[in-house]
Amino acid sequence: MTMIPVKRPLHDEEKALLDFLLSAEFPGHQELKAQAEHVEVVGRCKCGCGTIDLRVEPHSLRANTEKHIPIEAYGEALDVLLFAQNGILGMLEIVYYAEPPERPYPRPDQLKLWARPPLPPKDVSSI
Ligand SMILES: [Zn+2]
Repeated sequence: MTMIPVKRPLHDEEKALLDFLLSAEFPGHQELKAQAEHVEVVGRCKCGCGTIDLRVEPHSLRANTEKHIPIEAYGEALDVLLFAQNGILGMLEIVYYAEPPERPYPRPDQLKLWARPPLPPKDVSSI
């Protein structure tokens, strides 16, 4: 994917989607929520899929996220992935599995949240 540099605040529909993702309970969600209040869009995907790169304010509190993709959501023929690198909000990626002639921006009411379950503790007895 090719990102085009931009510099703008979140659009309302992007903010709604981000808020929706961060309404889920997962490790670090509170810090990510705080970061999302002052986030800037610094890139958007050239293809028009709606994927955006986010930049948080400097000195933001890092989230204790366990995973590179702490939260995602899925809808009909699309996934929304939120990336956090080292506890800092990164890309909001929208993945389409079909090619609709017109791609409406996904709305929260079309999506279901999904967080990867935590890794199970290692069972040493079975080795
Ligand atoms: Zn794209």
